[in-house]
This record gives sequence, structure tokens and C-alpha cells, in this order.
Amino acid sequence: MNRKVKLIGITVFLAVAFVAVYMKGQHNASKGKGLELINQAEAAGGMVKDPRGTAPDRYAYYPGTEELAENEIRVVVCGSGMPAARRGQAATCFMVEAGNGDKFLFDIGTGSMANVAALMIPYDWLDKVFLTHLHTDHMGDIDALWAGGWTAGRSKSLRVWGPSGQTPEMGTKYAMEHFMKHANWDFQTRAFNISAVPGTIEVHEFDYKGENQVVYQENGVTIRSWPAVHTGDGPVTYSLEYKGMRIVIGGDTFPNKWYIEYAKGADLAIHEAFMAPELFVKLYNQPPELAWRACCAFHTSGQAFGKIMSTVKPRHAVAYHFFNEEATRYVLHDQIRETYDGPLSMATDMMVWNITKDEITERMAVSTDEAWAVPGEAVQPPPEKGRPNPYSKWILDGRWDISDAQKKMLDDFADKYNLWDQDWRKQK
Ligand SMILES: [Zn+2]
Ligand SMILES: [Zn+2]
Repeated sequence: MNRKVKLIGITVFLAVAFVAVYMKGQHNASKGKGLELINQAEAAGGMVKDPRGTAPDRYAYYPGTEELAENEIRVVVCGSGMPAARRGQAATCFMVEAGNGDKFLFDIGTGSMANVAALMIPYDWLDKVFLTHLHTDHMGDIDALWAGGWTAGRSKSLRVWGPSGQTPEMGTKYAMEHFMKHANWDFQTRAFNISAVPGTIEVHEFDYKGENQVVYQENGVTIRSWPAVHTGDGPVTYSLEYKGMRIVIGGDTFPNKWYIEYAKGADLAIHEAFMAPELFVKLYNQPPELAWRACCAFHTSGQAFGKIMSTVKPRHAVAYHFFNEEATRYVLHDQIRETYDGPLSMATDMMVWNITKDEITERMAVSTDEAWAVPGEAVQPPPEKGRPNPYSKWILDGRWDISDAQKKMLDDFADKYNLWDQDWRKQK
């Protein structure tokens, strides 16, 4: 045997051994155990074989660049923090994308739309929102999704699913109808001037007492709800089933028996985990008598979160609803680890999981802060004739004549897009 063949033999052996160790490292990582030898290889982003080649995306997800496989689900955190939303962390929002292309927003908390925008998804596909409950840190950005999606390309009504309450005034239908009242000037003025239909909201209110009830079933995706125990009647937890996989999206709740029953064995189980009361006193300006109620009378402490996950035994657990930073995450993590040693993510904004039957990966999205609407194929319907004109002649007569300043620019635009039959400048 010549030297060259021998060398190739050794190289192949080393490569196989490396891959085996690498895969073991991956496996351990997905099981939440410590990484050993392989840490260094992963730190570099995996093996790069060609000096002109690319490093595998071990850590980063670049929105809009990665096709989802049919048997895959992608979950992105568009909000993970507190009602006092901050630039680094919006309030609750989870985007779930099924391999069939359908996209679902679970909660749309204060500040979350900036993260949603960075996901580079045409707004026409962001038309389905499922609210876990009606606290504003879970629906505060409904205005930005409603009006932003409307002005940036959504061609149809925004659809909102959410629970009923003990009385009609405590339900989702009431909340959305009164949101539209609050936004009446916005609606009437835009509806007259641009496409009206996308400015409407279609509400699907369901019984908050339903136990594992189907609230949505289309294109192979089934969404169910069950009750949660949080500050009053009404809040719910959702599960989404697709291709034999199950994602559980828990809103705010005290540990409850329904989650234990229906989240059992989920592929990805999301549940809130509140920071210790001491941290709320020190960092969030809460008086102690309020802090220990907030954390542990109507939310879920780290230890309680751990006990839930030890009982439910998901393939992967996700904790959220805390300010995730150096001062807090280790405290909460240690509390969770008192009662749970399984796979765990401590969620922060723009964290991403890809779920298949074989593997669950956690990465961070790397995205632009200056995203525009991504063009899709949907075309908005034209303005509706006969809508009430929100202008009076008196206010229109207040327009200052600036035609000399902008005439050429607008004429050129009309030429380019053949708009002469729609010249609004001639309208009185
Ligand atoms: Zn709440
Ligand atoms: Zn909340």
C-alpha cells in the first residue's frame, strides 16, 4: 500500500470520527446537557471546507433567506418581555410558521411589531392573530399590525381569534369592537383615501372554558385552546398541531391542571416564567407586597415552571416573560434548574427554533432594523366608492398652492406609471 492511500485512509477515519463526535455534541446540546470536546468546533460555526465557502449557519437565522421544509415548523420570538416594553425586548409575541407556509401570530404585545417587521414576511400573510388574553402586554401592538399591515400591503381583513370572558364586556369581541371605536378616525380617513377592506377586523371569539377545543383548522393546521388561571376568567393556552408535531403556546398563567394534561409530550412547550420577587423589588421598582403577588400568585415562578416541565416532559421547553439579561437570567435559570433538568431555552426577542421530528434547533435571528414591507403577490382592492368624505370644503380650501414646487415631479410620476386618468390634483 502506498503512502498516499494510507494518508487518505487516515483522513477518512478522522473525518468519520469527527462527524461522530460532532453529532454527539449536537445531540447533547439538544438534550440540554453540557458540550464537551466539540465546543470549539461549534464555536467556529461548524467546519468550513473551502476557503471561498461559507460557514454553516449554526447560530444565525437570516429572515427571508431560508425555505421551510414541508415537515418543519419555525417559531420566532417577536416579544418576550414585560408590559414596560424596552428597546431590547418587546412584550409577548410568538410567530409560528408551518411548513405549508401558513403563519400565525400568538399575541401581539407592546413593541412587538418592530420585530415582526424584521422577519421579512409580506404583510398579506400576517393576517391571523391568536390572543391568549386581553392584557395589553399581549395585544398592545394590534394597532401597529392593523394599520401597518393595511398601509403596507395586506389585501384582506385582519383576523383575530381570542377567548370570551365571564360577561360579553370581558371578551375578545368587545375588545376588538372597541378598538375599532378608538381607531374610528383612523379607519374612516384611511378607508376613504385608500383600500377599505384591509382596515376591517374579523373576530373569532371562542369559549374560554373549552378544554382542548379546536378553535382553528385549515390546511393541515389545527389550533386548540384550554383555560389558563391568570388574574381573572378569560385567559387561555393554545396548542398548534401540524404534521404530527405539537407546539404549545402558553400565555400568562398560574400553574394550572389543564396545561399539565394537554401540553404533555409537546414538541415545543412555551410557558411563562416570572423573575423572583426580589428582582422586581430591586430592578422594577415594585413594593415587596406587590412583587411577590405578581410573580407567584397570578404568574409562574422559576421553580414552578421547572416542576411543570418535569411533569409535562416536552422535547424542548421555553421560558419567557422576564427581562433577559446578565442580572436576571442566571437567577431565574438556577431556580428553574432546581426542579427541571431537561432541554430548555431562556427566550429573548428574535430567538428562533426550527422543529422537525428529528431535531429541534435554537438560533438567534440576525435582522435589519430598517426593514420595509416585502412585496408579495396580493393586490389590495381599490378604494370603495360612496364612502363618507372625511374632508369638508372649508378645510380643503385651506390648502396652500404649492403646484409650482412639485408639479414636474408629479407629472413625471404620472407619465411613468400612466396615471393621467386618476389625477387627484384636478379634484375639487
Ligand atoms: Zn397578563
Ligand atoms: Zn403578560
